[in-house]
Amino acid sequence: MTCAGPSPRRGAAQAVVTPVAGGLVASREGRIVFVGPVPAFESGVQAAPGAVVLDAARGTVIPGFVDPHTHVVYAGDRREELRRRLAGASYAEIASTGGGIVSTVRETREASEDALVESARRRLAEMLRCGTTTAEAKSGYGLETEAELKMLRAIRRLAADQPIDLVPTFLGAHEIPVEFRERRQAYLDLLVDEMIPAVVAGGLAEWCDVFCETGVYTPEESRLILEAGARGGLRPRIHADELAASGGSDVASAVGARSADHLLFVTPESANRMAASGVVATLLPAAAFYLKFGRFAPARMLIERGVAVALATDLNPGGGFTPSMPFVMTLACFAMGMTLEEALVGATLNAAYAIGRDTEVGSLEPGKLMDAVVVDGEVVDLIRVGAPAIRHVVKRGRVVASA
Ligand SMILES: [Zn+2]
Repeated sequence: MTCAGPSPRRGAAQAVVTPVAGGLVASREGRIVFVGPVPAFESGVQAAPGAVVLDAARGTVIPGFVDPHTHVVYAGDRREELRRRLAGASYAEIASTGGGIVSTVRETREASEDALVESARRRLAEMLRCGTTTAEAKSGYGLETEAELKMLRAIRRLAADQPIDLVPTFLGAHEIPVEFRERRQAYLDLLVDEMIPAVVAGGLAEWCDVFCETGVYTPEESRLILEAGARGGLRPRIHADELAASGGSDVASAVGARSADHLLFVTPESANRMAASGVVATLLPAAAFYLKFGRFAPARMLIERGVAVALATDLNPGGGFTPSMPFVMTLACFAMGMTLEEALVGATLNAAYAIGRDTEVGSLEPGKLMDAVVVDGEVVDLIRVGAPAIRHVVKRGRVVASA
């Protein structure tokens, strides 16, 4: 399944996976030079002496997964909260006793940059074994200038010294820090006047993100922050309509964000505006699953209204307990009513578009990076949760993980 063709895929095109039966993919110096049937390769292309040959016999080759929404860099451990949630505690109850994002902020502020790099490196290695070859990574557990910069520097170091390509996002507006709860305007000023300029000056992020939600950032505040980021060259994306229809998707449409993420409560009217503005819906069903929300984003409604749908893990210390895009695809199919083909496009080409990497990755096409997953069997074997369906993971033409 090459997923080759134009991006993003909307409406009926969301299901176009462009299969090649009995095919072969060839690359040189990390970039794809040929995709097609074996006879066409043999008559037109010469394999270099000593070329690495991977036999995908009885298997399926698909593009490496792209995970366009992660909080992979953080300190601390909140698995105790998972146990409490399983015993019936709500998100609000856990937050009211010092848990939730606040506890991760405390630990991340105290952690050294080296410690952040080392803990995230282990998580990235797990993601790689699950087939992810490109991922977005956010700051947002510092919530003060130096701690946010520390997180972004950790992301930059990780991008340089492990196989997964990382796309950095500044999320200083992840929460209102506890010490600013009684004077939130002062924190907004800090974001706009100090943090964003420092991030831009350091060249540390490509995107600016905001958690727009009741009790966190209002739509008006979100818009101000995203516009300040955009003035510095940080492109906008947003956490939207996760806990209520709180206006985040409309902010995305208004500022021309590339992606609005979560969207459990997005309305049909807001979906129409997203379609008209070309905003991608990045859906994170594993977060809804582990947080026991009892509902999922309306993927079918979004697809029917012409919104391109991407999928992501939302890997994070609270509700993002899985590094696995195949598990996210499984939830997309069984909890959100997507077809297997729609889920595969959501986890590859549309995910690449959601983070502005669709000209480099997301499909198997000449000129793109040789990032691929060799599946044991067919694509459907990926959603046999727990079965080891991935035989090899290839990044820039090198085998970086094998069963
Ligand atoms: Zn998030």
